[in-house]
Amino acid sequence: MTLRLYDTMAREKRDFVPIDPERVTMYVCGPTVYNFAHIGNARPVVAFDVLFRMLRHLYGEDHVVYAANVTDVDDKINQKAADEGVPIDVITARYLDAYHADMSELGALPLSAEPRATRTMDAIIEMIGRLVRSNAAYAAEGHVLFNTQAYSEYGKLSGRSMDDMIAGARVDVAPYKQHPADFVLWKPSKPGEPVWDSPFGPGRPGWHIECTAMIEQTLGIPIDIHGGGNDLIFPHHENELAQGICAHGHAHGAEGGYARYWLHNGFLNMGSEKMSKSLGNVQLVHDLVTRWPGEALRWALLGSHYRQPLTWTDEVIEQARGTLDYLYGVLRRVEDVPAADTGPGEAFMEAMLDDLNTPKAYAELFALGQALEKAPAKGKAEAKGRLLASANLIGFLHARPEAWFQGGVDVALKEKVEALIADRVAARAAKDWPAADRIRDELNALNVEVMDSATGATWRLKGTV
Ligand code: AMP
Ligand code: ZN
Repeated sequence: MTLRLYDTMAREKRDFVPIDPERVTMYVCGPTVYNFAHIGNARPVVAFDVLFRMLRHLYGEDHVVYAANVTDVDDKINQKAADEGVPIDVITARYLDAYHADMSELGALPLSAEPRATRTMDAIIEMIGRLVRSNAAYAAEGHVLFNTQAYSEYGKLSGRSMDDMIAGARVDVAPYKQHPADFVLWKPSKPGEPVWDSPFGPGRPGWHIECTAMIEQTLGIPIDIHGGGNDLIFPHHENELAQGICAHGHAHGAEGGYARYWLHNGFLNMGSEKMSKSLGNVQLVHDLVTRWPGEALRWALLGSHYRQPLTWTDEVIEQARGTLDYLYGVLRRVEDVPAADTGPGEAFMEAMLDDLNTPKAYAELFALGQALEKAPAKGKAEAKGRLLASANLIGFLHARPEAWFQGGVDVALKEKVEALIADRVAARAAKDWPAADRIRDELNALNVEVMDSATGATWRLKGTV
């Protein structure tokens, strides 16, 4: 069974064949850290986390290198720092910490590398110098611009004509540009903005060159997989590609000379509009995780295929939690059965290998849950192993069922319930039945159901499976 991935460059699904199976490389454009991430920003994170997990499964955990950058120098960061009257690294440290915490709540594994623009400055400046020396870039009035006329395949990734690109990029028609499509590699800093010395004058890099330099420094060019939201295809990825090819010689051309597979996720929408800060319709991950289990949010994010649009509603999250309630409920009923070491189910794997078809894979998980319920006693260990290995592979069902059913409960309530249960155990041990009954009534009033078993009492909120 081969992993097949839809490649934006080829405009079709292709068998995934890495350059070196001992070191599979993936890069995804990461966040600009000046605010909390919204759930739309989390969509690429979770989608590519699933791919990272699949690659680790196929090639071995130590044979996949996954990097995503942090853009920590940017106009919006500068603005925020100026508004608050603090240095920019106070802003970036605060929101990068929050970002890590939020993405971890959504079950995203830590990256192999997380390069940062401010720490890659030497490599960025060196790469710009190389582009200038090979006439793929030129200096003009304190700026350095990429010379789009020097690269005949410009536009190949996005499939746009030069006229479309000029219109679509909304690039400034600046007098120092040789061609209107040329884009900035280096620009002078305005007063108060961060500034670095360079052979082209003091200034700071353009956004596109940061990624290309970080890829070269962290992973090496070419890489196997380059990912991001489909809003990044043009101009960001088109420009990254042009820089990467010109900095490395044209031997392999646009198809594979920089990245062998280009993957892009669709947008997360609120109603008919995409979720975005500028439209003011965002739901922050930071807030959502206080209302919903992170695992339910992850499930909801993967409920549509990653290339399709995803309409985000409370019902989508409710449904996700309901399905997880069902699966954890099945697992709770076989808690005393050890899971056999079976590996993931075949139909589940087939769905995942087909361009990460998570909606189909979900149907298979549900079927595996039903198979586990129906399995005769001697078949339960196998069936449980198959369900767990499948779900775990894409980052689900790692919790103990009990922890899941208590997970949606706020901490104060949880502490109170556990104290009451302890009192009740003590009352029963002392054969103080009126006290035990009183405590049970109190728990009832809290909507908590206590289940006694040989190994002690467990509890859940009524209405959960
Ligand atoms: P931004 O903060 O706009 O630079 O976005 C950071 C990343 O999140 C990029 O990869 C975008 O493609 C992605 N992104 C932003 N908004 C959405 C959305 N509503 N749905 C899916 N991806 C998004
Ligand atoms: Zn990038």
